[in-house]
Amino acid sequence: MRGIIEMDLGSHELGQVDPVTRAALERALAGRAIDAAQARELIALPRDRLPLLLAVAGHVRTIRKGRTVTYSPKVFLPITNLCRDRCGYCTFRKTPDEPGAWTMLPEEVRRACRGARAAGCIEALMCLGDKPERAFRSYRQTLAVLGHATTIEYVERCCAIALEEGLLPHTNAGLMTREEMTRLKRVNASLGLMLETVSPRLRQTGGPHHRAPDKEPALRLQMIREAGELQIPFTTGILLGIGETLNERVESLAAIAELHETYGHIQEIIIQNFRAKPATPMAAEDEPEREDVARAVAVARLLLPDMNIQAPPNLSPYDLRLLLAAGINDWGGLSPVTCDFVNPEAPWPHVAMLAATCHEEGFTLVPRLPLYAEYLARPGFLDPAMRASIASVNLPRGVSHAQFPT
Ligand code: SF4
Repeated sequence: MRGIIEMDLGSHELGQVDPVTRAALERALAGRAIDAAQARELIALPRDRLPLLLAVAGHVRTIRKGRTVTYSPKVFLPITNLCRDRCGYCTFRKTPDEPGAWTMLPEEVRRACRGARAAGCIEALMCLGDKPERAFRSYRQTLAVLGHATTIEYVERCCAIALEEGLLPHTNAGLMTREEMTRLKRVNASLGLMLETVSPRLRQTGGPHHRAPDKEPALRLQMIREAGELQIPFTTGILLGIGETLNERVESLAAIAELHETYGHIQEIIIQNFRAKPATPMAAEDEPEREDVARAVAVARLLLPDMNIQAPPNLSPYDLRLLLAAGINDWGGLSPVTCDFVNPEAPWPHVAMLAATCHEEGFTLVPRLPLYAEYLARPGFLDPAMRASIASVNLPRGVSHAQFPT
């Protein structure tokens, strides 16, 4: 049964919209990606045109991705919540002397992975602060006791533990060098880094990234580019509502599209909405409206029609149907064993509940690996050892080895 929110494209009259909007939507319906100028027009459409934009984006999603929506059963491993940056919206980051500061020990990583495997997880998400060893002497000592000089060295060891326990790692450790990514490619199914925004304005005094040197857009674009040169399946995305303009949202998506056009390595784009949290510098800032999130999803779908477009369901729990209508085809990682440590106040939905919502809207929810199947078929995108790990892993119900070329 088709859902109540997804619009019937036939009920919309393209002839009644202005020529620029009409040209953009007709181009999308003809099977071509819109360009950045058209995206700037569409993301600023008046509210009464939003149903039309969603109808076209939903239609393109169904043509390119069918009526399947995926998620990755995962365990979230916050290897360390120490971080040298201070983003204005973050509650994950701690300093070593703060309550809740935590660096996982190898035994804790192993125990968490073993429990997660027993609970049906496949992905081990290594998500941590950025370069804490550059900021904190006590953390450097912790690393030395563990036998490592850098965080990435230690993460590599944690990934090896996850593999031994039958999970497939996906690491988001902030900015990494080419050499660090080369190391982690050997023990990861895929890597990730949120671009967040291309706007250097947000690094100015008082901005959300003023005290976050690793949020310099040029550096993040450089890392994403180098991941492409290294043929690493890569997850990235944009963060909505931290002070960027509508045009800057489009520029961020267009920058990702350009890198993907060159290297073909972007496996998914996350459209993540800012959540205002108590005791942060941005506690009193407005969160993006639900329609703005839907617009950004729709424009991402039309800029990159074949891309996997993801929105975190725990950050928009009342808007799941709207996100489906806007053109997503993935919900990202959901964990039956850990919370979202970056957004601990936002529980993930139960898979059965999410599946029921998808079903009511005419979609089938299925699990996936932390890398998308298309990258298994592409020479060079997977380290041979990782390929062997994937071949031997116990896949979740609903995923079969037959889906993957060897
Ligand atoms: S958002 Fe990431 S980089 Fe920024 S302070 Fe938090 S952990 Fe550090």
